[in-house]
Amino acid sequence: MNLDKIIGHENEKRILKSVVNTENLSHSYLFQGLDGIGKLKLAREFSKTLLCERHGDVYCNECSSCLKFDTNNHPDFNIILGEDRMIKKSEIDEIVDAVKHAPFESDKKIYIINNAHLMNKESQNGLLKTLEEPPIFLIIILITDSPNLLLPTIISRCQIINFNSIKEEEMKSFIDSNYNILDGEKEILLKLAKGSVGNLISMLEEDSILDIRTRVIDMIDKILAGDRSVIYNNESFFEENKENIGMILDIIMYWFRDLAIYKETGDMSYLINQDMEHLFRKQYLTGFEKIDKIISNVEDTRRYIRGNVNYLLSIEILLLNIGG
Ligand SMILES: [Zn+2]
Repeated sequence: MNLDKIIGHENEKRILKSVVNTENLSHSYLFQGLDGIGKLKLAREFSKTLLCERHGDVYCNECSSCLKFDTNNHPDFNIILGEDRMIKKSEIDEIVDAVKHAPFESDKKIYIINNAHLMNKESQNGLLKTLEEPPIFLIIILITDSPNLLLPTIISRCQIINFNSIKEEEMKSFIDSNYNILDGEKEILLKLAKGSVGNLISMLEEDSILDIRTRVIDMIDKILAGDRSVIYNNESFFEENKENIGMILDIIMYWFRDLAIYKETGDMSYLINQDMEHLFRKQYLTGFEKIDKIISNVEDTRRYIRGNVNYLLSIEILLLNIGG
């Protein structure tokens, strides 16, 4: 298994390695843990290793199985991605049907059902029969961030691998060895990623997050200085960044949290936005009471937007409160 490509998850990797080494396989696994922390990636690595013709604890990348796996052409490996929609009953029926036949090329058939909680009860019940009496060659890996939506009878059939959030130190060393990011920007990226390597990588790949941060901080600074025109001049920016609004609200929240800590301690090393001392000094006179109010306004805004209250209006009210 080439697990070096996977950041963190030392414990989870250790368990899977020992499974591969001892060939002590279960027929069904449940990988559970937060969205975006590498469960699917690890499941793929695990599957590729089990299918590799050399049967080592590291896949060879040379055999026909490895080559087919890499080009998504392996006849004994299937993934249901389950993205943004319910998993169809027909997709589960296909698995139930396919496992009646022996593998084509290897001694195993492996199925990954990503976002397994997107199976409805009927689909889960359909799958259950297969999990209860699995053919000897079958391995099913269920992946979910919401195991509470799976039937207890399904869960009880699976060996559970819990994925913990990746430690901040592991994420930091990953950034340091792969990207050229300033220290001040690193802290905020780590916070915004919320322990998810998937989030972190997509933020590092799109520079736009750091640009958005610069723009939002500039906006806050102008509003605090009494310039209300920026509130209305940024409508198109907020329209264009609807998808990023959760992150923008995080940026605002972390900003005011930092400002409060800076006022209290004067120590930049406790802050997330470590590269912005000149602005915190400038905004020093903002009162604690106001800062608290803004932070709770940010949370209100998050709720309004989730609840489909008018998007731009919700943001305008928040920005007006920052200025008020
Ligand atoms: Zn191989």
